[in-house]
Amino acid sequence: MAKCAFCGERAAVQVSYLNAPLCADHFVEFFERRFLLMLRRYRMVEPGDVVAVAASGGKDSLTTLYLMKKFSSELGYEVFALAVDEGIRGYREHKLRALREVAAKLGVRLYVVSFEEAYGATLDEMVEVLKHKGFEYKPCSVCGVFRRYLLNIAARELGATKVATGHNLDDEAQVFLMNVLRSGIPNIVRESPVSLGKHPKLVTRIKPLFFVPEKETLAYSLIKGLHTPFVECPYVVYSVRHVVRRWLNREERERPGAKYRLIASSLIYSSLLSRTRKAFRPLSTCKVCGEPASSELCKACEFRRYLGLREGPLRLHLEGEEG
Ligand code: SF4
Ligand code: ZN
Repeated sequence: MAKCAFCGERAAVQVSYLNAPLCADHFVEFFERRFLLMLRRYRMVEPGDVVAVAASGGKDSLTTLYLMKKFSSELGYEVFALAVDEGIRGYREHKLRALREVAAKLGVRLYVVSFEEAYGATLDEMVEVLKHKGFEYKPCSVCGVFRRYLLNIAARELGATKVATGHNLDDEAQVFLMNVLRSGIPNIVRESPVSLGKHPKLVTRIKPLFFVPEKETLAYSLIKGLHTPFVECPYVVYSVRHVVRRWLNREERERPGAKYRLIASSLIYSSLLSRTRKAFRPLSTCKVCGEPASSELCKACEFRRYLGLREGPLRLHLEGEEG
């Protein structure tokens, strides 16, 4: 039986790059210290900030919510949870239930905004249209754009100065690979622990789990009792990311540290590319909705037009649920 490298108690988690098995208590301490270090090292929060934690109800966002709340008084910021209900039957309602339970336990106010209210259709309905049009765009592309758009507007209207997301090392490594495969240079430049895109209507995004491997977040959430049901979105099978994730996990098993090396490369490229003005064009303003855009029309308006949805600025009814 493996023993904790610090106290000799029964080990619960093997942290391979530390070459040290850790007991549950020492793993929790290690995990939380690194989280706090990220907040400080990258100046993710300042006293007086209002942080909207983009919470889906999955283990990463529950962990982010839990730890953002835990350090809020020490660092002097406020926290609330913000969820997007895309309208994915058989999936989203289960994750939202888990989120409601955790938010209530933590005493954090929760706001839920839905695709149906914002765009006039659920993701399930949008996917029917995509199917009809031969899947020129995949469900995840539409879902991702609409979710980010909605989160930014809702967070801003609720007075948030930062949006914290639960993106972890695995997510970032996958996104980097996908950007390389698509030659998505501006996106490579923008992906970092603190978002670099600047626009008066864009709330700064922070990713405190940026360097944390997914399996460590899983271990932490299990130890802390942050339960989430093991249901998977039915549209994940359509995504390129699904393929990239499987490949990357195999690569990590055969060559440990592969994900860290990818992230290190991505940060180096990002820093080098951000010095060239061409790669990092400032964001402009969408001529239809007035939100941040990288061309004349923002991606959300482009998709709304493509799917035949109502256009123009969103009108949201933002009512929170007491934590
Ligand atoms: Fe949306 Fe794709 Fe995630 Fe499902 S898997 S919630 S469609 S981004
Ligand atoms: Zn727009």
